[in-house]
Amino acid sequence: MIELEGLTKHYGDKVAVDDLTFTVRPGIVTGFLGPNGAGKSTTMRMMLDLDNPTAGTVRIDGKHYRQLRDPLTYIGALLEAKSVHGGRSAANHLLCLAQSNGIPRGRVSEVLDTVGLSAVAKKRAKGFSLGMSQRLGIAAALLGDPRVLLFDEPVNGLDPEGIHWIRNLMKNLASQGRTVFVSSHLMSEMALTAEHLIVIGQGRLMADTSMRDFIQQNSRSYVRMRSPEREKLLDLLHSEGIDAAVAGNGSLEVDGVPADRLGELAAAHQLVLHELSPQQASLEEAFMQLTAESVEYHAHDGEPVPAQAGAAPGARTPEPAGARPGEPQPSGWGADWQKKRS
Ligand code: ADP
Ligand code: MG
Repeated sequence: MIELEGLTKHYGDKVAVDDLTFTVRPGIVTGFLGPNGAGKSTTMRMMLDLDNPTAGTVRIDGKHYRQLRDPLTYIGALLEAKSVHGGRSAANHLLCLAQSNGIPRGRVSEVLDTVGLSAVAKKRAKGFSLGMSQRLGIAAALLGDPRVLLFDEPVNGLDPEGIHWIRNLMKNLASQGRTVFVSSHLMSEMALTAEHLIVIGQGRLMADTSMRDFIQQNSRSYVRMRSPEREKLLDLLHSEGIDAAVAGNGSLEVDGVPADRLGELAAAHQLVLHELSPQQASLEEAFMQLTAESVEYHAHDGEPVPAQAGAAPGARTPEPAGARPGEPQPSGWGADWQKKRS
C-alpha cells in the first residue's frame, strides 16, 4: 500500500505536484494517468525519496521510505531514466544491486529468468535494445521481491510484443497481492492494464476511480449524421424534439436516439443522408476532456487551477470550450496539444 497525504512539490515558482492525497491499494494494478508534464514522474520520485516534497508525506506500507530497512525489498521501481551501467553484464549489474541491498545473490538468476534475459545474462547491457534494457530495469525492480512496485511509463518505445509482456507481468504481480502503480500519458494503455485509475492534471488530482466506473460514466455513444441538406435535417430533428449538435466537420451528432429511427425519420421526409453511423466516444477523449480542464484554466487566467481539483471519484466534467467529443482532436498528449489549447 502507498499512502500520499497532501504531497506537494514546487520547483521555484513552478508547482509540479499540488496537494495530492490518495491511496494505492494492493492486489490490483493502479494506473497513474496524466498528460506530459502533469507531475507523474515527480510524484513517483518522491515516493522513492529521490526528491524531497515541499509539503506532505508518502508512506510505503505505513512507513516513510527512510524508515525502510533494505528499501529494495519493500519497493521496486522502473523509472523513466534508465541508470544501467553500460559496461557491466546484465547479471553483474543485478549482482551489484543485490549485494548493496542485502538481497541474496540467488535472486539474480531468478529475476533474469522472470524477465526472459537468462540467455543474455553475460552480455554487456550497453548493447541491449530498448526492450532488453526495459526488461533489465524490471529485473532490478523485482530483485528484492518487493510488495510494492512502481513503473513510470514502462511501455514507452516498446514493440507490441514487449508491451503485451509488460501488461501481463503487471497483472501477474498484482494478482500475487502486490501493490502495482504504473504511470502513462495514454488512456488506451491504462484501459487495458489498470483496474483503478488516478488521474492528475497540472499536479492536481482530477479523478480517483475504478476503471469500470470511469468507462461507464465516460463512454458516450451517439449517432453521426451527414446530409447535403443539413439545415432541413436539423429542423426536422428539432421538430421531433431531438437534440443534435453540429460537429467541427459539419456533421451532426445525436445523443440517445437509435440510428434506425433517425434513418427512418430522414427517409419519411425524403432527406438525403451521406452518413448515418453509430459512434462510441473513446476513453482517450474522456481523459482528454478531464485533463483539458486544467489546461483551459491555465489558458484563461494563467493560474494552473483546475475546476475539478479534488473531484469526487468518477466525477463527470463539463466539456472544455471549443472541444466536442467526436471532433478530430490531436492524438498526442504532449506540448502540441497544450499549445493548441492555450
Ligand atoms: P510527467 O512525468 O507527468 O510528464 P513531471 O513530473 O516530469 O511530469 O514534470 C512535472 C512538471 O515539473 C513539469 O512542468 C516539469 O517541467 C517540472 N519539473 C520536473 N522536474 C523538474 C526539475 N528537476 N526542475 C524543475 N522543474 C521540473
Ligand atoms: Mg514522466
